[in-house]
Amino acid sequence: MKLCSRTMAYCYAILLRLCLLYSIFSSPNLSTASIQQDPSSSDEAIISRFQQYLQINTAQPSPQYYQAADFILSQAKSLSLESQSIEFVKTKPVILLKWAGSDPSLPSILLNSHTDVVPAEHDKWAHHPFSAHLDSDGNVYARGSQDMKCVGMQYLEAIRRLKASGFQPLRSVYLSFVPDEEIGGHDGAEKLAQSDVFEKLNVGIVLDEGLASPDENYRAFYAERSPWWLVIKAIGAPGHGAKLYDNTAMENLLKSIESVRRFRASQFDLVKAGLKAQGEVVSVNMVFLKAGTPSPTGFVMNLQPSEAEAGFDIRIPPTADSESLERRIAEEWAPASRNMTFRLGQFKQKVSVLDKYGRPVLTATDSSNPWWNLLEEAVKKANGKLGKPEIFPASTDARYFRDLGLPAIGFSPMANTPILLHDHNEFLNKAEYLKGIEVYESIIKAYASYSEHSISGDSKDEL
Ligand SMILES: [Zn+2]
Repeated sequence: MKLCSRTMAYCYAILLRLCLLYSIFSSPNLSTASIQQDPSSSDEAIISRFQQYLQINTAQPSPQYYQAADFILSQAKSLSLESQSIEFVKTKPVILLKWAGSDPSLPSILLNSHTDVVPAEHDKWAHHPFSAHLDSDGNVYARGSQDMKCVGMQYLEAIRRLKASGFQPLRSVYLSFVPDEEIGGHDGAEKLAQSDVFEKLNVGIVLDEGLASPDENYRAFYAERSPWWLVIKAIGAPGHGAKLYDNTAMENLLKSIESVRRFRASQFDLVKAGLKAQGEVVSVNMVFLKAGTPSPTGFVMNLQPSEAEAGFDIRIPPTADSESLERRIAEEWAPASRNMTFRLGQFKQKVSVLDKYGRPVLTATDSSNPWWNLLEEAVKKANGKLGKPEIFPASTDARYFRDLGLPAIGFSPMANTPILLHDHNEFLNKAEYLKGIEVYESIIKAYASYSEHSISGDSKDEL
């Protein structure tokens, strides 16, 4: 026993010496070796960080914002980024990170993402929506895997890689992680966009979320449709259920619904014929009907009620003629001559299609906008393909930045991926996620290196 332990001690001493010698001889290559072997840059580590973010339950209506904030701040620390947590509204932190550029006079780049997600019906999922389960096909299942924790983390991973490569930005790069997008963004991106803090950032371009693409082309969005939530109310003389007479509330409302349906069909036909994309037409969908006189067993059946109401979700692209639509509502859908009431004030929500300068809220996607050209080139450089730019069919936080006259592009690099935002079993494939990091690396590099001064200040108007 004694001999054995002495032999072991001897061997151990030799091993130690060998290790020492190895480290001395390999020291000239130490930096390369440490980058290659840096465990934080392995695919496993990258996916693990994505999973950690996804595992934080930030579902509305009670998102764990502080947990998400702590996680993002810890990532920022590991990347030596400047950071601050701002509560424009109590308990709803906006996390703002900065990678300082060498020329602070140039307008900066803002990479925006929201930290909240929509709720998930756990029992309808194959894996728990906050477990971030990685299956054998490499799919990461989680609420937020597409919308849009993927993007927030990909920004950070791209910066990690750029930093490791020794890249120095010319323009400052800011990252904002905002709350409440899924409930309108009023306490998040809207407050940020209107703040003094934001003004001081001197932002020149904003990147925000897009959508997954089932084919090989990435999708980019240059505008979005404005929601108009319309309530039409019809009034009429009440009467016996057996009597035929004109101008009952129900009859009046039905005439409106028929008129709305004809308009809806005309817009939908353009999409069906392939002439326009969903985002380019005005959509109208009836979302509620409210009428009838309640009884203990349901509704009174022999009485025609004096009031009837219908609600519509209307979405208008900035390219549409919103004045003519307002006329159509007043003259065809809810004419006072038919005892219909409709006032502008009755809109539950009515977002303007014009920005604060009175121009349609959209970002140019031609040579007049250098940021668009840079994005196209950078995606190509990373071996990605970009589809025809689109109008986002719903709303995102990007509108708060476009409203200020700033260019904003909605872009989530997820090709060959089914669109599962807000759906059961939302997932993103690991390979697609990793590819997206390379795409952002290329974009951030191109944006942060762009040296032209011409797009700052007044000339923002031209964008
Ligand atoms: Zn989203």
